[in-house]
Amino acid sequence: MAASVNIVWFKRDLRVHDHTPLAEAAKAGHVIPLYIIEPQLWALPDSSRRHWHFIHDSLCDLQRDSAALGAPLMVRIGEATEVLEQLRYDLGNFTLWSHEETGNGWTYARDRAVAGWCRSHNIIWHERPSNGVVRRLTSRDGWATMRDNRMSAPIMASPLLTAVPFCASAELPAKNHPMFGSMNIGTVQSGGRKEALKTLESFLKERGRNYMQSISKPGFSARHCSRLSAHITFGTLSLREVEQATKAKMRTLAGIHDSDAESFMRNLSAFLSRLAWHCHFIQKLEQQPDIEFRCMHPAFEGMREPYFREDWFAAWNTGTTGYPLVDACMRSLHANGWITFRMRAMLVSFASYDLWLDWRKTAPFLAQLFTDYEAGIHYSQFHMQSGITGINAVRMYNPIKQSIDHDPQGKFIRRYVPELKHVPDNFIHQPWRMETPPPHYPPPIVDHEVAIRHARAEISKRWKQDGFKEVSHTVNQKLGSRNRPLPRTKATKNNGIQQLSMDL
Ligand SMILES: Cc1cc2nc3c(=O)[nH]c(=O)nc-3n(C[C@H](O)[C@H](O)[C@H](O)COP(=O)(O)OP(=O)(O)OC[C@H]3O[C@@H](n4cnc5c(N)ncnc54)[C@H](O)[C@@H]3O)c2cc1C
Repeated sequence: MAASVNIVWFKRDLRVHDHTPLAEAAKAGHVIPLYIIEPQLWALPDSSRRHWHFIHDSLCDLQRDSAALGAPLMVRIGEATEVLEQLRYDLGNFTLWSHEETGNGWTYARDRAVAGWCRSHNIIWHERPSNGVVRRLTSRDGWATMRDNRMSAPIMASPLLTAVPFCASAELPAKNHPMFGSMNIGTVQSGGRKEALKTLESFLKERGRNYMQSISKPGFSARHCSRLSAHITFGTLSLREVEQATKAKMRTLAGIHDSDAESFMRNLSAFLSRLAWHCHFIQKLEQQPDIEFRCMHPAFEGMREPYFREDWFAAWNTGTTGYPLVDACMRSLHANGWITFRMRAMLVSFASYDLWLDWRKTAPFLAQLFTDYEAGIHYSQFHMQSGITGINAVRMYNPIKQSIDHDPQGKFIRRYVPELKHVPDNFIHQPWRMETPPPHYPPPIVDHEVAIRHARAEISKRWKQDGFKEVSHTVNQKLGSRNRPLPRTKATKNNGIQQLSMDL
């Protein structure tokens, strides 16, 4: 029996449907679906109880679904190579199956250790692609076609499984187990396959109608964005399932000739572009894993590190900077673990340009707060929003302009910053201008205009260094989008308040 045992190692693919390794393992023989809880991973600075809560829900659904197919989920706690070694001792040699994972530096090192362990014990490990990210890609040319081909491949049905008898599972640790830390996590989005399907359905049926008009509005985006990010991160849905369901809906809408259907189509088309960005950004980390630790363009190394101010970091991460929208966004993240793209970008822009904080300190902090933390997107976005790629236009968000544009009456601000509840509308974006400012709310921690001038000068200096453009060219060849137009210079205006995009 030992020769036909197939262990399917579930990582961030917590479903049985459209799961290639599971389907292939089922054809090969007896199957053990395995989930390993790795204490070292949970001690990392970018891990948090919030992620565990979502995973816990998802594992409960996975336990139910894999048992229904014939093989119950085995949960083991320990380091991956030790768990696998114990299973080899108990069962004899087996074949290992999993999806490819593009995670942080720790998971990369762990996978290399597992690969080494497999080699030294003659264990075959089959890894299958998870999404549109391509391993060992030599050039970005043609990548988009490879991704699209994967997304349009047929979805794999859940297979029937033949279990291996007498395989003991550890009990699933509780949501509040100390291994996952003690951070205060407020409300956490529910995980699991059932929730994932419900969320996808409600977005495609109704919520997605107002996707684009709400996507930047902190008060509306929580409802009209898909809210699928955590499900995609932890794989309760495959990206292919989301993409194909969206295209099916678009085909239905194409048959209805009215303006509502056309508008819904446009919204879904914008959503599809973002699904492609998902893979595009993770591909960057796949190709250059050290962007978790180093600036994408080396000219920016050392630019911020010596000036890190703990007091400014604390003001930013507790939502007490004196900029109402920045503080409301940070506090809402503490409360809910999700915020829309533009507000994430503004929070990082404020930390990186206004407060000149090194992204290596701010990125793990937000990773813990985001339920949907996905290292590839997260670090690539941090580099972009901190101006250290050397290949993208540098966008410095003006927190007052963002506030006026996207929360004009300050409803979102008042919900999360109760100190400003009674501030009149005309002062809600700049309460420090009141004759008697609200007593329990701090004045702005920095002057935005002054801080931005400093940031612009420092970044310009690096762009003008000898050899900068040559390195940018290499970075772009390796990691840049092939669809991206060249960066432009613009300053957008609103009520005399400017926001800066620089093409240096
Ligand atoms: C600093 C920063 C950090 C971020 N960190 C993460 C992260 O850790 N995990 C994460 O999933 N997203 C991250 N994003 C991207 C984006 O903000 C979220 O994907 C989005 O807000 C999730 O909500 P949604 O599922 O409702 O998105 P929707 O707008 O409904 O988009 C659907 C899906 O497309 C993908 N997507 C959307 N926008 C982007 C984008 N700009 N780049 C890449 N993929 C995108 C996501 O998978 C998302 O679930 C980050 C953005 C910034 C600026």
